Amino acid sequence: MSITDNLKKIKSALPDDVTLVAVSKTKSISEIREAYDTGHTVFGENKVQEMIQKWENMPKDIQWHMIGHVQRNKVKYMAGFVSLIHGVDSIKLLGEIDKRAQQNNRVINCLLQIHIAEETTKFGLSADELDGLIHSDEFHNMKNIAIVGLMGMATFTDDTNQIRREFRFLKTLFDSTKKIIPDISILSMGMSGDYEIAIEEGSTMVRIGSSIFGARNRN
Ligand SMILES: *Cc1c(COP(=O)(O)O)cnc(C)c1O
Repeated sequence: MSITDNLKKIKSALPDDVTLVAVSKTKSISEIREAYDTGHTVFGENKVQEMIQKWENMPKDIQWHMIGHVQRNKVKYMAGFVSLIHGVDSIKLLGEIDKRAQQNNRVINCLLQIHIAEETTKFGLSADELDGLIHSDEFHNMKNIAIVGLMGMATFTDDTNQIRREFRFLKTLFDSTKKIIPDISILSMGMSGDYEIAIEEGSTMVRIGSSIFGARNRN
């Protein structure tokens, strides 16, 4: 099936209140253009340099989401245009985003990434670290970032019960965080292999790459 067909099929099956981020990492401008021409305007990238190149070469009504791990020294390059940063996992990174957002006269929307998988390789805050961050003075003094939700990645496994447990855990953290930060509305969880489970467990934003654009050579 074509990119257009894949995108239409996935979108028609998603609940209306779930946002689709089309993950276009490693894919070419012409492939992204095909998706854009169906009317889709939300794309996700995991490398800052690659996202900048695509932003430069694509229409400016696209919302670019940074979904990958962010190095602090790269924040300045995307601070002028990035629409949502999914992978914020430290107060230091958040401080850098705040500083660069201020220099660009804007507020940058961020998600706090939570470590929910069994794998030690995945990034993210623990529940305790999340609690510490959202109660810190440092965080409360930041005026140019907005925490709009949480993000997490489940373990890469065939065990759907485990995936469901991990997503359910993230949803409970989302609900308890909402008591502290009432404005949060986004729960970013679910990729090509597990987004249906994620939606059943309360996801409001899915990040789907290979099921739209086909397999990749790298992540
Ligand atoms: C690559 C990536 C995705 C999309 O993965 P697919 O399995 O191709 O849908 C989602 N989220 C993050 C953080 C990614 O790096």
